[in-house]
Amino acid sequence: MAEKISISQDGSLVVSDNPIIPFIEGDGTGIDIWPAAKAVMDAACAKHGKKIQWMEVLAGQKAFDETGEWLPEETISKFREYLIGIKGPLTTPVGGGIRSLNVALRQILDLYVCLRPVRWFEGVPSPVVHPERVDMVIFRENTEDVYAGYELAQGSDEAIKLIAYLHDEMGWEIRHDSGIGIKPVSITGSKRLIRASIKYALSRKRESVTMVHKGNIQKFTEGAFRLWGYELVKEEFDDVAVGWDDCHGEPGERLLVKDAIADNMLQQILIRPSEYDVIATTNLNGDYLSDALAAQVGGIGIAPGANINYVTGHGIFEATHGTAPKYAGQDKVNPGSVILSGVMMFEHLGWDEVASSIVKAMALTISEGIVTYDFARLRADATEVKCSEFASAIIDRL
Ligand code: NAP
Repeated sequence: MAEKISISQDGSLVVSDNPIIPFIEGDGTGIDIWPAAKAVMDAACAKHGKKIQWMEVLAGQKAFDETGEWLPEETISKFREYLIGIKGPLTTPVGGGIRSLNVALRQILDLYVCLRPVRWFEGVPSPVVHPERVDMVIFRENTEDVYAGYELAQGSDEAIKLIAYLHDEMGWEIRHDSGIGIKPVSITGSKRLIRASIKYALSRKRESVTMVHKGNIQKFTEGAFRLWGYELVKEEFDDVAVGWDDCHGEPGERLLVKDAIADNMLQQILIRPSEYDVIATTNLNGDYLSDALAAQVGGIGIAPGANINYVTGHGIFEATHGTAPKYAGQDKVNPGSVILSGVMMFEHLGWDEVASSIVKAMALTISEGIVTYDFARLRADATEVKCSEFASAIIDRL
């Protein structure tokens, strides 16, 4: 019988071989990529004696058409109850109260880690000479920084009031015609993010964690993020990890925790990508880094992601691209992003064998030149297939 996923006292997930998982099909090309991805996931699970009972929940255009709401309360309560979910891309409603459905889900469930693994698949066209040297996992803080939404428009009463306050109380000279944004970075937000990245690196036997920050300029936000990270290593991981400054020579068996300034990091990922492994970073840096790295491996169209709260156990796995509405219903676009977000979900559930069989089959399919239009147009030797045919080719190779 299908069962709910739950979380145990020690924070680990309790997952049966037949869990119930809510999914959002997604708008636009969601109708093409979701069935394709589901077929691959189901086939891989069956191979390893597992079966997911999918439970559809609504969000986006489909929800609006059926219920008059973009993000129905029932969807949120299902994600809350069943802990783990997966989603296709959603249309961002233009106008109205909701800024973005993805942001809303993240905030409501306090999904504080945005997780983005970045690796290359042989045969994926890339703009760099050695894309195979990129194998990184980015932990981007998801709730703070300039993304917290504390912004005041230039000329508004609030902005004028705040500028005057800052002038009178702090002596800060801010031009009177400025817009203002606030950048909160807390100990709580930073440490829980860095803690998650270190635990991940340890459990996956990765070599290092690099904290990426702009602390040379923004000392009390970005710089503090770095300091709190090193503090955490000493407080909680002293026996299994070591901070760069305390590592005299080789880290030995211990995980190395180091740091890099964000602008330098954007060079490093191009010049010496193999020296970086797990990345822990603040929200804005993480945004830039995720896309820069995804582009480096040619993977913007197939990059997966997840938003996770490791304390409550909630996690939503998702395609990182949008709805590509001009291709909707054409059985044309690449389902790779949702398939790989499924792979991330299986790894998160501890179903590593299911995850790796999908990765191997997908890698083989692409390396044989069986690809959708987006890769086919960049490869002379490719056989262009439809979205559903790409999924079938993967299933044949499982
Ligand atoms: P988009 O949907 O990501 O599409 C931009 C371009 O990316 C497409 O025209 C296509 O490139 C390529 N692309 C997207 N998905 C692909 C796939 N599965 N396979 C191959 N190529 C793919 O971005 P957008 O046009 O800016 O946004 C459209 C809607 O999506 C908006 O409502 C936006 O708010 C929403 N959105 C949602 C999410 C999300 O739910 N996570 C994320 C971003 C945007 P070519 O034209 O070159 O073929």
